[in-house]
Formats: sequence, structure tokens, C-alpha cells
Amino acid sequence: MPEAPPPDVIRLDGLAKTYVTGDTAVHALRETDLSIQRGEFTAIMGPSGSGKSTMLNLLGLLDRPTAGHYYLDGSDVSRMDDNDLSDIRCRKVGFVFQSFNLFPHFTVFDNVCVPMRYAEMDADEMRERADRLLEMVGLTNRADHRPTQLSGGQCQRVAIARSLANDPALILADEPTGNLDEKTGQEILQLFRDLHAMGRTLLMVTHNPEYEKVVERVVRLHDGSVASDVRTGVETWRGRAVPPGTVPAAAVGGA
Ligand code: ADP
Ligand code: MG
Repeated sequence: MPEAPPPDVIRLDGLAKTYVTGDTAVHALRETDLSIQRGEFTAIMGPSGSGKSTMLNLLGLLDRPTAGHYYLDGSDVSRMDDNDLSDIRCRKVGFVFQSFNLFPHFTVFDNVCVPMRYAEMDADEMRERADRLLEMVGLTNRADHRPTQLSGGQCQRVAIARSLANDPALILADEPTGNLDEKTGQEILQLFRDLHAMGRTLLMVTHNPEYEKVVERVVRLHDGSVASDVRTGVETWRGRAVPPGTVPAAAVGGA
């Protein structure tokens, strides 16, 4: 019998979030159906207040929906209790934030280890993996530094290494180049392209039109609804050889 195809990384079925304050209800995300396949590189765009952060917080299990279902890597995570949610969040989702969100008193190395400690990974495996991830983002020689001793671009590289720590099914990023100058932003975007080339599933909220030149898919939100969902036609490396100059998929565990 042929094997069943792997589930979509994300499947939203009527997912919605309404904030109620006093007698006012804000429909931050209206009933949304959306599927994201393994290996897709997607940008979520839209004007301020359109629901981008709400959607990202729901996808990252940082917030709970008020209606509908969210299947993450095949499991319905929309009704899980807090303990199960934190566990799944730690193992299945990697986060990259605009302001990096590193622990300032931890070394670079220890920052990358945080999700692995939480997942109670074996110590030798953790060290080996942190070394490989830091090598991948070009920061081996900064392992013992603290974030305050790094540039913004280097901090974001640490955050990207950390996001990969537990080999997540999904990497979510919220304006990951929003605090960086243009050149550094381009370098970080290139790093995301490399991850995409390795088969990673990436979804990022951005205002930056540069992303439309590199992502495969653009989902635009307007007033809490998906206003458009467009394939950009950007050439992808999926299913082909990794482009020259990128790190082998084995370095970060592949897709
Ligand atoms: P975006 O990230 O696209 O700017 P948001 O998802 O932050 O949009 O917000 C969508 C809508 O939900 C906005 O109208 C916003 O004011 C409202 N909203 C977001 N968070 C809350 C909250 N915690 N309580 C009440 N309303 C909120
Ligand atoms: Mg926002």
C-alpha cells in the first residue's frame, strides 16, 4: 500500500480570534481556512491592525483561538491544555522575533541551548547540536559572547540558530529584519532562503516588499480576513539539489 502523504504543517479550519473588551468585540481574525505545506516559504502581509500578529500568535501557540481548529503537523492543537501546548510549542515551533528576544546574561551558546534544555535533550547531543547550529549561522567564534557584545545581525543569527534547536516542524518570524539596516536585513533574508533550500517550513510576518521577491507565497490579511493568497512564482529549490554555497541539510537535520 502506498504511504499516506505527510500532513500539512499547518491546517486552519475556521480558526478565529475575537477580543472582547467591555461591550466591544474586535474580530482580530475572522473564520480562516488555510493550509501550509511542508517546505513552503510564506510571507504574511497586510496593513497595521489587519490581524498579522494575532495569526502568528495563534500559529505559534502563544494565544488560543475563540473558534475553529488548528492542526499543527497533523495534531489538533486548538483544544490542548497549557502543559501540552508548551510542550508542543517547544518541540514543533521555532520563533524569530523583530527584537531578537535573547537572554542578555546568557552566552550565545547558552541562548541556543534554551529550547533544548526545556526539551530535556541529552547534554552531549545538545552541545553537539548547538555547535553545529552556531557554525551554520557563522558564529562559532562568538559562542562565549553575550548578546550585548554582538551586532543586531549577529543577534538575529543567534535567534535563528535557537529557532532550529529542536528541529521544529515550523519556523515563525515576526518582522525578523525590522530592526536591522538594509544590508544586514538582506543577509538575514539570505539565511532564511538557505533554510528554505534545506526544506524548512518558514512563515513570516513582514511589511518589507523585498520579501515578495524571495518567498513562494504571499498571504495578505485585511480586517482580520485573508484578502488574497498568491503564489509568487519565485523559483524554489524544493525537491532539487541544494544550491551551491549553502550548508548541507544534514548540518541542521534536514526537513
Ligand atoms: P497587526 O499585527 O496586523 O497590526 P493585530 O493582530 O495586532 O494586527 O491586531 C488585529 C486587531 O485586533 C486590531 O484591531 C487590534 O487593535 C486588535 N487587538 C490585538 N490584540 C488585542 C488585544 N489583546 N485586545 C483587544 N484587541 C486587540
Ligand atoms: Mg502586528
